[in-house]
Amino acid sequence: MIIWLLWDPSEGELRVKNAEQSFILLPIHTSLADCLVQTAGFSSDAALLLTDNRVLATEAETFDIPTVSLAQTEDLLPILVEDARHMNSQWSYSLVQWYLANHRDLPWRRTKSPYAVWVSEIMLQQTRVEAVIGYYTRFMGRFPTVKTLADADIDEVLKYWEGLGYYSRARNLHKAAKCIMEQYQGTFPSAIKELEGLPGIGAYTAGAIASIAFDVPAAAVDGNVLRVLSRLYALWDDIMTDYTRRRVTALIEANIPLQAPGDFTQSLMELGALVCIPGRPRCEVCPLSFECKAHMLHVEEQLPVRIPKTKVREQKRAVFLFFNEDRVLLHRRPEGTVLGGLYEFPGVDLVNGAASTVDQAFFDAYGIQPKGTVECGEAVHRFTHIHWHMTICTSDLVPEQVPEDGSWLWADAATLDQIMIPTAFKSAMKLVKQRFSCI
Ligand code: SF4
Repeated sequence: MIIWLLWDPSEGELRVKNAEQSFILLPIHTSLADCLVQTAGFSSDAALLLTDNRVLATEAETFDIPTVSLAQTEDLLPILVEDARHMNSQWSYSLVQWYLANHRDLPWRRTKSPYAVWVSEIMLQQTRVEAVIGYYTRFMGRFPTVKTLADADIDEVLKYWEGLGYYSRARNLHKAAKCIMEQYQGTFPSAIKELEGLPGIGAYTAGAIASIAFDVPAAAVDGNVLRVLSRLYALWDDIMTDYTRRRVTALIEANIPLQAPGDFTQSLMELGALVCIPGRPRCEVCPLSFECKAHMLHVEEQLPVRIPKTKVREQKRAVFLFFNEDRVLLHRRPEGTVLGGLYEFPGVDLVNGAASTVDQAFFDAYGIQPKGTVECGEAVHRFTHIHWHMTICTSDLVPEQVPEDGSWLWADAATLDQIMIPTAFKSAMKLVKQRFSCI
């Protein structure tokens, strides 16, 4: 059974959402223990502890958590609370045991030096393990310490990086080595915040260094880990979102075995690389197969969910302001197009944005020949699928050329106030209003 707890500080309510999608609202003074026992049928020896925005499974006999601790949870961030019987499954211990018995012997795993962990993690970004081994060995032979790297000439560092690609990684390594020498007197920092302050070190790398080298209970969430956790907990949210990343981070933090944070981080990486691989995972040899929800539900190949990002088209466009005494010309956009059915200041898409051809492009589109066109402004409007980069022009025309097909309208200031003009034309509208105010 999956239970969702949602804390809504604005309402002062804890909501319990069960598998049937119903909400059970609990008064603020109800303890979490009572909530779960009464609404979800948990046994009283099951324990869940919510603190500092984490969900922690404990073996305590009761879970009389003061309600105030719930207030520390993030606003309306759904916190997945597994059935306590599942939470006691201790998958993290099974995983670490498997890792200790099965992991590959890689050069950077023979040490807990933060410098070695760091160099290997940076090299492993966008590069396969097999390809990294040779580079790593040569690099560490020449730059065995932070100091040797900081003292080296950047050109020499780049030479040792040659072939690995993504050279900004090497530049950042060199910069960060200098920072460590200058700001930390050559001692590698172990705190996540300090690590993240170094060039080229993001949340994942900071978590990896802190946990592997210093045994700090920190999560290191990369694509492999997102995939493993999405399957293990059968998460159906898009793994590319911040929301899923936060949720996976919380689940990992809740399960870090405090005796072995570094081995745990590496075990997740190893499982993602060797067993819980993209496409068809090797569940038959997986140490988590007895606890993996995706495997139990036979949906492991459908997870993780990755919703492709919509490809955005950058479109240059000329927008024309045709004035005829105290009126401006509007055009109703054709149905089935962006802003279909709404009035616009007439415009035309430009191929390659060639400004010299705007008049011709407009004539080709509408059979109206602009004359004396002058550029008077620029604007950008972002729709989901398309970004308009608009050049706004004032121009003259022969009014008789305007087709009488019902899609064109000469609007004065009063009419303009009555008509819905999309915000995409906010800048053009401003220019029109300035012009009208001068008449
Ligand atoms: S059982 Fe299969 S899907 Fe689940 S974690 Fe293991 S390899 Fe991945």
